[in-house]
Amino acid sequence: TSRPSRNFIQQIIDADRAKNPQVVVHTRFPPEPNGYLHIGHAKSICLNFGLANEYEGKFNLRFDDTNPAKEEQEYVDSIIDDVRWLGGDWEDRLFFASDYFDQLYDWAVKLVKNGKAYVCDLTAEEMREHRGTLTEPGKDSPYRTRGVEENLDLLERMKAGEFPDGSRTLRAKIDMASPNLNLRDPVMYRVKHAHHHRTGDNWCIYPSYDYTHGQSDSIEGITYSICTLEFENHRPLYDWFIQQLEIHPPRQIEFARLNLSYSVMSKRKLLQLVQEGHVAGWDDPRMLTIRGLRRRGYTPEAMRAFCERIGVAKFNSTIDMAWLEDAIREDLNERAMRRMAVMRPLRVVLTNVQPGEPLELEVPNHPQKLEEGKRKVKMGREIFIEQEDFMEDAPKKFFRLKPGGAVRLRGAGIAICEEVVKDKEGKVAELKCSFNPDTTAQVDGKKVKGTIHWVDADSALDCEVRLYDHLFTVEIPDVAPEGGSFLDNLNPSSLETTIAKLEPSLADATSGESFQFERVGYFVADSVDSKPGKPIFNRTVTLRDTWGK
Ligand code: ATP
Ligand code: MG
Ligand code: MG
Repeated sequence: TSRPSRNFIQQIIDADRAKNPQVVVHTRFPPEPNGYLHIGHAKSICLNFGLANEYEGKFNLRFDDTNPAKEEQEYVDSIIDDVRWLGGDWEDRLFFASDYFDQLYDWAVKLVKNGKAYVCDLTAEEMREHRGTLTEPGKDSPYRTRGVEENLDLLERMKAGEFPDGSRTLRAKIDMASPNLNLRDPVMYRVKHAHHHRTGDNWCIYPSYDYTHGQSDSIEGITYSICTLEFENHRPLYDWFIQQLEIHPPRQIEFARLNLSYSVMSKRKLLQLVQEGHVAGWDDPRMLTIRGLRRRGYTPEAMRAFCERIGVAKFNSTIDMAWLEDAIREDLNERAMRRMAVMRPLRVVLTNVQPGEPLELEVPNHPQKLEEGKRKVKMGREIFIEQEDFMEDAPKKFFRLKPGGAVRLRGAGIAICEEVVKDKEGKVAELKCSFNPDTTAQVDGKKVKGTIHWVDADSALDCEVRLYDHLFTVEIPDVAPEGGSFLDNLNPSSLETTIAKLEPSLADATSGESFQFERVGYFVADSVDSKPGKPIFNRTVTLRDTWGK
């Protein structure tokens, strides 16, 4: 009661523990290895691991690998790596539902013996017809009354590989008139002659999600089985299997899945983006996969802070992308060293700096954290500033550079624009400025208001920089335009590549290292395409939320 704002799951656990202090909080994260994890999965990991941690309980990582057709070892490996990166620690409790295939089969035999399951010969099509609708009860399968002996024999032969794919199923015998469609004799096993990435060719029948999930939870001693809302009306079935088998009963609790604006979250759509080449891969920095976010420069700390902040609810909603961006901004504001980099360079000649006699300056690495020390920066006669930091016909409130105006060059001094040099087309090609190394100097009796960043032209590093934007142009891309698909909502300018001028010390950036490019944004050295001494930078996030402005 003294702890602030308990979410509804914490409240359930608190109440359980008030009644019985022995209750152990044992949770799990159960991914299907059929794709890479995304930010929605991160929410589930943070929630499940967070609860286990908070209540000094246990957390399992379990692969829900019952569908041999879509699953691959590559996904298993990436998921393990991503969960660990996020900070989820399963210690020695890494499990695979496929390890339970023997036990699940034995339990299926038990249900058959108890008259609670039967082998059905209806085709998928016929089964659908028999199933009924929300307003209409289903019809019993003609095979529902098969005797126990015949069912045991057929199940055994299904397992032995005597029947072709799709010819027979094992179904739970529950209630074809139940208002809950999940209870209308759901399928427990299908015949599928397919190679499984772990069990090889040992099996040609595979258990359904509903028959596998709860029993796997039970085997592992899970106490709180937390899943997303779409499983709410599977809960009676989850409980039914556990009761019939008389095994340890976990409690299923449903919460709202994460939806984020300007993004899609379903693995199927993410796969389509990859396969059709709309992005460069699962780890494309525009993808909200954990891989993509890592490559974009997100930290585990920022992801956890985001998941903590959005909380846990019982109703679906869409979270504004700005929440995610704020989380990484706050984290990088603390940890990223400051550097200077010019995205769209404009050459400036400092007329009173002598050629070959550059100034040696010392600039703080992090103005709010002086303990981070200073670095040496050179400033020669020619420097680059951002094109947008100069304006020829500037309004009164423009405090950057304009003809005759003064501006402070970060860490260096004051520049006064004496001359604007234009090219043949009349475009601004270069500025000539006078320079005063006294940063506090007044100009025309007034303090200089604006400060801009700059890079020494002679020693600047030419570097590829990738400026990322949202992958979609609309808040809810899942809603496709009339007659189109979600792909029609793709943002054609979600990636802009530029060759920027960087402070030379950035040549030593290590892969994955983050910086604040002063006044520009947070950037990370790309972990895939950077070469030693030749980094490529990805923009993680701008300094302020400028989307749509
Ligand atoms: P998708 O619909 O994207 O394919 P999934 O639910 O099929 O996702 P699983 O691998 O089965 O993917 O998910 C593992 C766990 O992650 C499940 O417990 C699921 O409820 C949870 N999860 C998946 N997507 C989200 C989300 N958007 N928000 C919160 N939890 C999620
Ligand atoms: Mg799933
Ligand atoms: Mg899925």
